[in-house]
Amino acid sequence: MPDFQEDVNLMQNLIDTHDRIVFFGGAGVSTESGIPDFRSKDGLYNQKYKYDPETIISFHFFETYTKDFYEFYKDRMLLLDKKPNGAHLFLSKLEKSGKLKAIVTQNIDGLHQMAGSKNVIELHGSIHRNYCMDCGAFYDGNFMKNSKDIIPHCQKCGGVIKPDVVLYGEALDNGVIDKAIYEIRNADLLIVAGTSLVVYPAASFINVFCGDKLVLINKDPSSADNRADYTIHQKAGELFERLHV
Ligand code: NAD
Ligand code: ZN
Repeated sequence: MPDFQEDVNLMQNLIDTHDRIVFFGGAGVSTESGIPDFRSKDGLYNQKYKYDPETIISFHFFETYTKDFYEFYKDRMLLLDKKPNGAHLFLSKLEKSGKLKAIVTQNIDGLHQMAGSKNVIELHGSIHRNYCMDCGAFYDGNFMKNSKDIIPHCQKCGGVIKPDVVLYGEALDNGVIDKAIYEIRNADLLIVAGTSLVVYPAASFINVFCGDKLVLINKDPSSADNRADYTIHQKAGELFERLHV
């Protein structure tokens, strides 16, 4: 069993001795806020649905079975009442101190912004932004949650509204990729947390890191463990809660 206090000390020391820190996170950063990840044993992939989640959140499925998509999406992904945990809150303080330059996230939940972070690069979009596919009108998360029809329609033109979330089969935004790569390339410490590093191209971003130290924090061991200078098996929220700026 890894010693929690040793891991806290290691992280504190890394943060104290670096000043161009970039954080790269995945679904595991938000599980302690009550949002299930995909691949943990109680994650979405291990729950029983008519279709498997990877199929449902693909663009093809969205286009073809829009109602089924929205049933799953509203129930499992459009979670608007969740609050930031110790990881989100600490990272926001670290940015204010000047040491943390950017957060690159695969998450779509907006919890980093809710915690006060400013430079948040969202690789996979956000549940808080939604656009009419016909006229481009913008709608927020509450509009989606409160729409009486299962499929939310545009109030201006009646078109179908699509979440600004990158679905499987859709490409990531090039401008967003460039920003993420720029920040990671310029970092001296890269903290990767709560990601199984299997979703591409996001997972390949750690390859562009050429700074001093790479640390990986995941609850469970993963195939990515040997890619880091340090690997920590702890819950991100619990660990970050113990750190100070
Ligand atoms: P994943 O589900 O593949 O992996 C999550 C990883 O986090 C696992 O390795 C797990 O061991 C670890 N983990 C779980 N809880 C943790 C905790 N408390 N502390 C530390 N580690 C913890 O997630 P992924 O790699 O981010 O890929 C899934 C994709 O699904 C992403 O692209 C993301 O866009 C999307 N997603 C987003 C959310 C969200 O916005 N909160 C939730 C689920 C999935
Ligand atoms: Zn419209």
